[in-house]
Amino acid sequence: MAKLDIIQIIEGLYLGSLDATFNTAGLQEEGITHILTIDHRPLNASQTELFQYKYIHALDLEDTDLLSQFQECFDFINSAREGGSVLVHCFAGLSRSATITIAYLMYLKKLNVEEAEGIVRNKREAIKPNIGFMRQLHLFERMGCVIDKTSGLFRKYKLCQLAQRMQAGFLEGSLPSDILMCNPLDATDKTDAVYKCRKCRLALFRESELISHTIGDGESSFDWRSKVPTTNHHCSEKNVKADNLNSTLVCDKSLFIQPVQWMSNTITSQEGKLSCPKCSSKLGSFVWYGEKCPCGAWVAPAFHIQTSKVDKCIPHPLVAVSAPVTTSPVSSSNTVYPSLTLVTSADGES
Ligand SMILES: [Zn+2]
Ligand SMILES: [Zn+2]
Repeated sequence: MAKLDIIQIIEGLYLGSLDATFNTAGLQEEGITHILTIDHRPLNASQTELFQYKYIHALDLEDTDLLSQFQECFDFINSAREGGSVLVHCFAGLSRSATITIAYLMYLKKLNVEEAEGIVRNKREAIKPNIGFMRQLHLFERMGCVIDKTSGLFRKYKLCQLAQRMQAGFLEGSLPSDILMCNPLDATDKTDAVYKCRKCRLALFRESELISHTIGDGESSFDWRSKVPTTNHHCSEKNVKADNLNSTLVCDKSLFIQPVQWMSNTITSQEGKLSCPKCSSKLGSFVWYGEKCPCGAWVAPAFHIQTSKVDKCIPHPLVAVSAPVTTSPVSSSNTVYPSLTLVTSADGES
């Protein structure tokens, strides 16, 4: 029989190709107890019956979302390595399975992409994660090698993934519910500043839902694919100092936000207007493929609220003026939003 196309990366973790999975006896001789398939179809029962098996559906395409599957793969690999060994494979053992293997090393040993890739390449020289997977690995590094699906970086990534599907016309049915932020009134954390409709005072979104971008940063402003915040982009003189201090130049010209629940019926088309769900006054617009901020940055996808249409309200804990001293401590849920507070300056947009 031909040589088994698997290679040990670290103790209990092997990387290989689909070919190797046909030689079940050979795998057993190597001590393989678990198989993780990352491919467009699972293995046959005859290939898996002797092993603990997990299948992740994924094509070797740039826009395939492996990042969302990382943790599930890590958990399986971890369980395999408790006394056994796992073979991680795709078709050729070069792109998809190599990406998962690199990500696992990053997560396990807190390595950056280059370090983890180096370890894997040292064992299997031909590995070649596709460019989309490399971007996901770099994003994973920026996330601190931790998958936190509630983090801003992860949400932005999912939003950009969705935007790509929208642009390609691949969105079937309604928007995935986890992509929409909850309406401010439903939020459990009331410590966040809230932006209210200037006309009817309805709370529209929270400050934490604002998506910042760097000034005039070009095509990649919002894009999760830009590996690191650009520091040497074109900038005005006053910004040079900030650049020297290595700080990110965040635009304050416009309010771009993550999509919120109340938009769900509106934003299923490619672009359109955003209106207050209560008083219907016009608030801004959305364009899935992106739009240009007045600062010159290209922002995609864009959910744009005009600063002149909303007021920013900072919550205050209820001050117990008339309450006796014996009342329980003020909790974060006991907050009020003053009806008239800090008003963001109008930015002259129409
Ligand atoms: Zn309103
Ligand atoms: Zn801007």
